[in-house]
Amino acid sequence: MLFEDAVRANAMAVKQASIPDLRRLLPVLRQAEGDLSRELGRWLKRRSPDETYDKHRHRALVAQLREAIGESERRIGPALAEDVDHQAHDTRAVAAGHLRSMVEAGSAQYEGAIRPLRVDVAAILADEDQLLLTKMRAKGARYSADVVGDINNRLALSVLRGETVDQMTSRLLQSTGLVRAFKERGPAAVGEGIAGQWGRKYKWWAESIARTELVNAYAESQVRALREANGEDPGWVLRWDAANDWRTCWLCRSLDKSTAEPDQSFRAVGRFGARPHPPLHSCCRCGVFPWRRSWSNKQGN
Ligand SMILES: [Zn+2]
Repeated sequence: MLFEDAVRANAMAVKQASIPDLRRLLPVLRQAEGDLSRELGRWLKRRSPDETYDKHRHRALVAQLREAIGESERRIGPALAEDVDHQAHDTRAVAAGHLRSMVEAGSAQYEGAIRPLRVDVAAILADEDQLLLTKMRAKGARYSADVVGDINNRLALSVLRGETVDQMTSRLLQSTGLVRAFKERGPAAVGEGIAGQWGRKYKWWAESIARTELVNAYAESQVRALREANGEDPGWVLRWDAANDWRTCWLCRSLDKSTAEPDQSFRAVGRFGARPHPPLHSCCRCGVFPWRRSWSNKQGN
């Protein structure tokens, strides 16, 4: 295999890893959306459209909504942690395989002999899994608190503006472009329209956390392996590969092909600090590949 092909295969694997498979989380989010929709519909049914949405009504409604999604809220964090942890383990195993084939292809091409990569991949995998699980549980907990916080803020804006119940629902439905259509179908449909928007927003949010963490897991296991390899066989550096990202992100493109020692960071770009490896930003699909400075002077054959 040519080194370029091995690097390209690695980039494809990063792309693949960044498509999260959220089997446990998605049903929980759907349940939360259904519960919000139902409670909002019930609440609207008992209100007249001309009533002012004051702070007492606000407090009661937020408490009612929080109660409705309480069960889902408790399940979001663990479901997110479980989905990402499960996939990250597989992702790391794939990453280790790709690292090995890049090392072999590169050394054969630039040095004329295959240089084996001596690392304890199993130890790296086991070590990182535990770290990730803890991190994802914390992210999941913050995530569910944010859902309720966001709902609270958007509704509270109506109190500040002195809106009526009717004005509040119009504002919340505005971005659907279907304010009239939802309203003509009654309170249940209005609840559904509003909850649907929350649902989409948080589904995307969860996905972007998962995408970013999977790319992180992928790169981290490769960086750790190279760091370990450098103990016995010094001279490995990392090269940033923005092959997948160049259409969308100039910051990643500006890091493309730049190098860093495995125990150091790439230079800082834009508002992002110096990173030891991708992802640079949320949903970044960049990767790294192994490199030796001496390879730059040699023509691959
Ligand atoms: Zn990127």
